[in-house]
Amino acid sequence: MRKFFFVVIAFIVFIVLVPVIIVTREEVRIEGDDVNEDSDATEIEVIESDLMIKVYNHRTSEIMSLYLEDYIVNVVAAEMPASFELEALKAQAVAARTYAIWKKNMHGKEGDPAHSGAILCTDHAHCQEWLSNDELAKIHGKLWIYIYLPRIKESVKNTRGIIMTYNMKPIEPLYHSTSGGKTENSEDVFSNKVSYLRSVPSPFEERSPSLLNEKKLSVNEFINMMKTHSKNFEINEKKLGTQIEIIERSRGGSVQEIKIGNQTFKGTEIRKIFQLKAADFVIEIDKNHLTFTTKGHGHGVGMSQWGANGMAERGSNFKQILKHYYQGITLSRLK
Ligand SMILES: [Zn+2]
Repeated sequence: MRKFFFVVIAFIVFIVLVPVIIVTREEVRIEGDDVNEDSDATEIEVIESDLMIKVYNHRTSEIMSLYLEDYIVNVVAAEMPASFELEALKAQAVAARTYAIWKKNMHGKEGDPAHSGAILCTDHAHCQEWLSNDELAKIHGKLWIYIYLPRIKESVKNTRGIIMTYNMKPIEPLYHSTSGGKTENSEDVFSNKVSYLRSVPSPFEERSPSLLNEKKLSVNEFINMMKTHSKNFEINEKKLGTQIEIIERSRGGSVQEIKIGNQTFKGTEIRKIFQLKAADFVIEIDKNHLTFTTKGHGHGVGMSQWGANGMAERGSNFKQILKHYYQGITLSRLK
């Protein structure tokens, strides 16, 4: 009987206390001070490491419960080449962590309506890419797990709890592969003007495989794709050269407006139609073909990953990299 009584008490304690612990862990508070430029991030004591987040796995359709820091490891592994400089990996880890907290603050427990119940998903086209260790081993081989995964874990551990804030709020840390020399103002690509997402030079991307890219189409293919996109589209295929004109470019170099035939289009629209790597492009026309030459890869807003690696190769640390690509931000830490 005594044993039964003890079991009942233990059960009640479990029921009452466990939610209290979970609620405490759910709270994300931010310390206002800028992380000291001279301090070693590894020495900062943070207690957010127990924070758990819900992530919708778009490949298995399951909602996973993951520790924040573990989630970050597999995002960095999926989003950035592991051979990159450690300081670039650390910048990516802070960006990935900031994104998670930004989404958590925006959606709370209900999660993102696009995958309700989970604040994040594993799809880079919607949130940020996340790959499990098994998936990473399949893509890169088992040796990669032993050689490269520890580097990524180190980058996450060394930046534990650090996020980027602006006016004491987590920022939306957009990032992309390669800017093509200059990043974009947020309002030139998306609708909102965001104070910390300004166009800045990104001069060290020379090793990016996407710095320049070509896409060649036949004139017929080009016209058919334009007509599929826009029903009233008309163009004289014999005078193509005189009917394509770039009207405006952004500060970062992307095509803002282009006249093709009887209509005008946004550069981002053309990028989507022809699946170009970037909206920063020129078009060359010969007799039967049309060639897009793009500069960079991605939307061009926020941190350029190849630019971050180039800065790290030249001695910049992750704080300098982040403060360059996200203007006016503060590096804060979660309490
Ligand atoms: Zn998502």
